[in-house]
Amino acid sequence: MRVGDSFCPGILHAVPAKDGLLLRIRIPGGLIDASQLRAIARIAETLSDRQVEITSRANVQLRGMQQKDLNHAVEGLESAGMLPSRAHDRVRNIIASPFAGIDGDELLDTSPLVRELDARLSADPMLAELHPKFSMSLDGGGKWYSRELDDLALRAVTSGGEPHFHLAVGGLPAGLSVASDQAIDCMIEAAKLCLQISKQFELPVRAKRIAAVPEAWERMLEGLSAFMQPYVPEKQVIAEQVIAEQDWPIGVHATRQAGVVSVVPSIPLGRLNAQQAQLLAAIANECGASLRLAPWRGIVLGAIASKDVSNISRQLEDAGLSLDGRDGYRGLSACAGLGCDASFADVRADAMLLAQNLAGRETGPGWSVNISGCEKQCAMRNGATAELIANESGYSLKLRGTTVALHCDAKNAIEAVAACHAQLEATTH
Ligand code: SF4
Repeated sequence: MRVGDSFCPGILHAVPAKDGLLLRIRIPGGLIDASQLRAIARIAETLSDRQVEITSRANVQLRGMQQKDLNHAVEGLESAGMLPSRAHDRVRNIIASPFAGIDGDELLDTSPLVRELDARLSADPMLAELHPKFSMSLDGGGKWYSRELDDLALRAVTSGGEPHFHLAVGGLPAGLSVASDQAIDCMIEAAKLCLQISKQFELPVRAKRIAAVPEAWERMLEGLSAFMQPYVPEKQVIAEQVIAEQDWPIGVHATRQAGVVSVVPSIPLGRLNAQQAQLLAAIANECGASLRLAPWRGIVLGAIASKDVSNISRQLEDAGLSLDGRDGYRGLSACAGLGCDASFADVRADAMLLAQNLAGRETGPGWSVNISGCEKQCAMRNGATAELIANESGYSLKLRGTTVALHCDAKNAIEAVAACHAQLEATTH
């Protein structure tokens, strides 16, 4: 087992941080079953800092683990089926809509494709060489979710009257589509081409770098030509209709099936304590609901009978997982803060103070706040309403794109963000 700070974390690649070892667990497509979540919660409770962190690629991480407990944690995760191939521990970024199969607007349920892609990826030794940040997105074409900035992204569209997937490579639309029954062959081939082309052109194994070099891009399209056909847009959910990432849907939502809903609780700062994770696993078990981790660092309880909702809502609220979107955490993200050597501030504590300040208020679309412990801005999402970056003497503060302070103490920064929130809400209503 390798332990070292030069590695991206995995289960077998624990990385030391200020608060102990950090493990990242691959959850392809965010599809996790109740027994797996329960196993993670148990390990968090007994061997790490009691928190289950959901990442922005819908994986899970555990922090604050000690070296002596590592083997025990790895065994637990492996026996729960979360390490199907040791060689592919860090080939993990398969991202899909957490509403796949239940979203009334989607053209295709991508869940079976996610499972097929993961099985083929995990069985192929060549693909173990993919960069740990290499990401592959399968998007059924619904309005709750759209990602095209991943290394490889397939979004469902209608082409020639049939469902196809439109391909984007490194964020660049290829203008080509692949039939749905060839989508996984195409994805696997494209991933292999990324490895080959990056070697040939001496580029990092990231599709964005390939898309930026015209000869490499040509080679990529040539290599995929057996799968692809020109794409003429017919029917798809247009970009403006897709819900922006910061406006993640909290609450109870209709699904494609009458009498069946999805339940989406707020997960403050993407962190569940072990008891909350156990509760979600128990609810999924009792109600036969599916569990999906979401790229907004959240969770969706899919396919729940409407009659069970009031009971579930009560249990979630009692556990501190709000369903009304008014807990102050909507749109709020913070980095690891004091868990990281580089942090100048306890950003999570400051994020909690801000949430307390905003709690009970309505939050309109587009509201987002990023709080980072240093210039690296790990919590950053583009176009945030408020950006706080800690430095040696407080926070630099940007509101709606304008820098308003360079060295602001936490209390004043929080008050300024809360005032900005109030002002925006007043103009909206
Ligand atoms: S933003 Fe800085 S302090 Fe926060 S996790 Fe990243 S490197 Fe660490």
